[in-house]
Amino acid sequence: MSGKKDGSHYKLKAMCCGKTLEDTGTLLSCPDCSEPHFLRADYAAVKLEAGPLEEGLYRFSDWLPIQRELKGSASPVTYKSEALAAELGLENLWITFNGWWPAKGAAMKTGTFKECEAYSVCARIPDHTGKVLVVASAGNTARAFIRVCSENNIPLVVVVPEDNLNALWSDEGRADCVKIVASASGSDYFDAIALSNKVCSGEQFYPEGGAKNPARRDGMGTTVLSAATEMGRLPDYYFQAVGSGTGAIAAWEAALRLEADGSYGANTMKLMVSQNEPFQIIYDSWKADSRPLVELDDDAAREQAHIINAKVLSNRKPPYSLPGGLYDALKATGGDVILADNEEAASAGALFLEKEGIDISPAAAVAVASLVKAVKAGRVETDAAIMLNITGGGMELFKKEHTTGPSKADLVFSADADAADVIEQVGKLF
Ligand SMILES: [Zn+2]
Repeated sequence: MSGKKDGSHYKLKAMCCGKTLEDTGTLLSCPDCSEPHFLRADYAAVKLEAGPLEEGLYRFSDWLPIQRELKGSASPVTYKSEALAAELGLENLWITFNGWWPAKGAAMKTGTFKECEAYSVCARIPDHTGKVLVVASAGNTARAFIRVCSENNIPLVVVVPEDNLNALWSDEGRADCVKIVASASGSDYFDAIALSNKVCSGEQFYPEGGAKNPARRDGMGTTVLSAATEMGRLPDYYFQAVGSGTGAIAAWEAALRLEADGSYGANTMKLMVSQNEPFQIIYDSWKADSRPLVELDDDAAREQAHIINAKVLSNRKPPYSLPGGLYDALKATGGDVILADNEEAASAGALFLEKEGIDISPAAAVAVASLVKAVKAGRVETDAAIMLNITGGGMELFKKEHTTGPSKADLVFSADADAADVIEQVGKLF
């Protein structure tokens, strides 16, 4: 089933009522149901045929809900660890690396696995919708979407907190069809989401959709496809740091497909997700065995987000409670949530650099720290097949090799900006 895709290789299954839907490329929910739910892609190919690494992310196009292929994508790369594995006393540790590390074949120029989602989401959108895609981001997602939309001439508005503009570095600038809108200094990711909702209330714009976008989840799920095809089996444990947890939900969904494929053994994959203490709403909710998220005061959340080094892990409203969300994924896989503070993450990041030879993002360092803690606590068997998802890395290396510049916002809005005014001003940018 490999080869170029035009969208005829999948349908969407509504997890609310089980209905099968034809994809429009931008559909995010079932037209008949109002309870929160996911649409899940249902692929014609039960067996995955992965292409060569040169095909970038689209080597996994059998299991991506896309209508076309775009320029410039890269695939996650998986390899068996020797040095870090030996240090931790593990016999079967596999690292899935997302970022910039040419020596390993890793070619994500914006440095994180957000490229997996960006090249999947944008390839799902048909050419010439006549509308403008809107993406809210703390930084990494915006950087990835700016790149794919610039390279492929897709109209885009990214909405970021003004204080995070320095995260939008690039080696190639951006195309005219890509605009940056910021929520004024002092605001956070949550405020940027609120501003993006105002933009999306305009006719001319449509939202990317976050976890509800099946292309986002299946794009992120390629990390597990990369691991399983390299390992020849499904891993026993999956370690990843989470903000929204969408990557972990995606990993669970990918494992279910690989189980149905039948070529990768039994599905024993436990999700071991981690948060950067003290921003720990997922941890607290999980440990309370609560499907609803525990209460988190807005001011406390901003304060916690300020403290943690892995800023991207500070989502206040993760898709945890809804059917098929993170709570269900953790329950279904027998998974767990682990905390790592800034100090533990920093020393894990340094250990990774020393043993594996590449810099990793603060979020990825949280995942490494969680693995170190799980091993020390005897919570994983030393011979277990472990997948460590390094969600970002090689950014220091990339910046050493390339000249990168910052990005400026085209417009900045305060939190109380009027929606009609926002729509008019952003509309004038196009
Ligand atoms: Zn429905």
